[in-house]
Amino acid sequence: MSILKVCHLGHPVLRMQSQRVSPESLTSASTQKLIDDMLETMVEYYGVGLAAPQVHESLAIAVIESHGPRGTIPITVLVNPEVTVLDEELIEDWEGCLSIPDFRGRVPRWRKLRIAALDRNGKKIKLTAEGFFARVIQHEFDHLMGKVYLDRMPDLRTLSHLAEFQRYWLPPEKANS
Ligand SMILES: [Zn+2]
Repeated sequence: MSILKVCHLGHPVLRMQSQRVSPESLTSASTQKLIDDMLETMVEYYGVGLAAPQVHESLAIAVIESHGPRGTIPITVLVNPEVTVLDEELIEDWEGCLSIPDFRGRVPRWRKLRIAALDRNGKKIKLTAEGFFARVIQHEFDHLMGKVYLDRMPDLRTLSHLAEFQRYWLPPEKANS
């Protein structure tokens, strides 16, 4: 496996709608290696999610995994995901992005979703997500549509460099989590 280079805001691939992956292409050795490399890259950079456009591949593939204080999410690979909103309540919380390094901003997201996708083996999966899991899915789904979290921020005044975020916005007991 390899750690891939993550592209940053300004790279055109982040603004493209990604291509759906055919079942034949999904099971190919090169796509399976891409998924393995995306998982390794996400862990290397302490991400909780990574979408293929962030590693210069305009394909509808996202990987998610979290063991942090905001919630535990097992390794999840979503190919060609489709999202249905189950609860239109919007919850605002902080987000960051490996393609927009060292920034944090407050982003409203739907509370609860249903996702239909393929897993990495091409098997159809359906799952329901809420809270932090639903937030991460919406963040990654946006990447597949050529969007980033800044596009979803209603108020850019919360956009903060990481050091200032930790100094001014985080409660002291959470500053190191
Ligand atoms: Zn991101």
